[in-house]
Amino acid sequence: MSRGMNTLLVVNAGSSSLKFCVYSIDEASAPTLVARGQIDGIGTRPRLRARDAGGATLADQTFAAGEVADVAAALDRVGVWLRQKYARSNLVAVGHRVAHGGPRYSAPVLVDATVLTALERFVPLAPLHQPHHLRPMRTLAERYPGVVQVACFDTAFHRGHPEVADRYALPDDLYKEGVRRYGFHGLSYEYIARRLPAVAPDIARGAVVVCHLGSGSSMCAIKAGRSVDSTMGFTALDGLPMGTRCGQLDPGVVLYLLTEKGYSAKDVEQLLYQRAGLRGLSGISNDVRDLLASEDPRARLALDHFVYRVAREIGSLAAAMNGIDAVVFTAGIGENSPEIRARVCARSSWLGLDVDEAANRAGGPRISWPRAPVSAWVIPTDEEGMIAEHTLEAWRAHEGRRSHAHDGVPEPAA
Ligand code: ADP
Repeated sequence: MSRGMNTLLVVNAGSSSLKFCVYSIDEASAPTLVARGQIDGIGTRPRLRARDAGGATLADQTFAAGEVADVAAALDRVGVWLRQKYARSNLVAVGHRVAHGGPRYSAPVLVDATVLTALERFVPLAPLHQPHHLRPMRTLAERYPGVVQVACFDTAFHRGHPEVADRYALPDDLYKEGVRRYGFHGLSYEYIARRLPAVAPDIARGAVVVCHLGSGSSMCAIKAGRSVDSTMGFTALDGLPMGTRCGQLDPGVVLYLLTEKGYSAKDVEQLLYQRAGLRGLSGISNDVRDLLASEDPRARLALDHFVYRVAREIGSLAAAMNGIDAVVFTAGIGENSPEIRARVCARSSWLGLDVDEAANRAGGPRISWPRAPVSAWVIPTDEEGMIAEHTLEAWRAHEGRRSHAHDGVPEPAA
């Protein structure tokens, strides 16, 4: 990195890990990735690893448990490393991945005390993720009150859903207090939507089903670049079966577990988030690679079910858009498994999907025959890159307002 370069930091905090990316920025262009890293094993066996944009190792350090006991200490460690590694750089803003923006936030927002309080109120809507996402924001706000922080929401891209799609068939008071079909993975879908004009201009204004298939999986109907509906709803449990999460489930099953089997709310949560999905179905693994390699009939059933549900949702989301021009595969499974892609497309042949197997094996971007009525694509997602773009836009707007305020009429004294 050259001298005096401005940088952005993107932070994605989990329960025991802190992922981060460093981007350099200049006047005109999009953020450029400089380093990608994480501290995992926070409080147990902390380890800091980082690589440059080409994948070369920049750091691999372990610490005693007490040295990195919590997320605040992990942030400190990352800060120390950044200052050592990029001594001459100038950190201008930090972008955060935030699970839930509630009914309120349909775009990224600059973080201040009011926003932090508002985001705290959404903790009950994403209790497993939101507290971890808010912690580094609060830590930075306390220790470095001057640093520009931007919250980027997994829900924001979906906030434009029509009300018919946003509703559950429940009384209005529950809708008003926030029981809605929010949808998640919005940063991934927004990234894909922004890339479509360059990668696949013919379909960019059309009706596209994006399949984000990773350890968490969902799908999104995108029409003319905007999210119309998603398979996920009130929480990130709904829709497709995932690595360990159940996906769509009759709520009667939960009532049965509570009333007939004596499950506690915690037991139900544990079952639906940790012991369900591909892991629960197969009894073997939550990882599609293991299941593809296994001869066990339970592994086959788990994959058959996954493919079946993805194909069924393609039909459902096509109905939501009143048509379909293309399917896009992304995330860990979508980007890396030609077999799953081929099987999903074969089950969707009634729509006009027809995969060119050589192109599919090669990883695309286009994997369908040119004359197929519905095209199929592989587009790698980049949620951190999307956060960096948002953070840069928010920071530039903030700087613009500041310099405008300084150029214009002097602000009255408080
Ligand atoms: P996360 O939600 O953690 O970001 P990813 O999008 O990285 O998840 O997806 C991780 C999942 O991708 C793994 O659990 C695995 O099932 C799947 N995956 C990764 N590589 C392959 C591959 N080559 N073939 C099939 N599945 C893969």
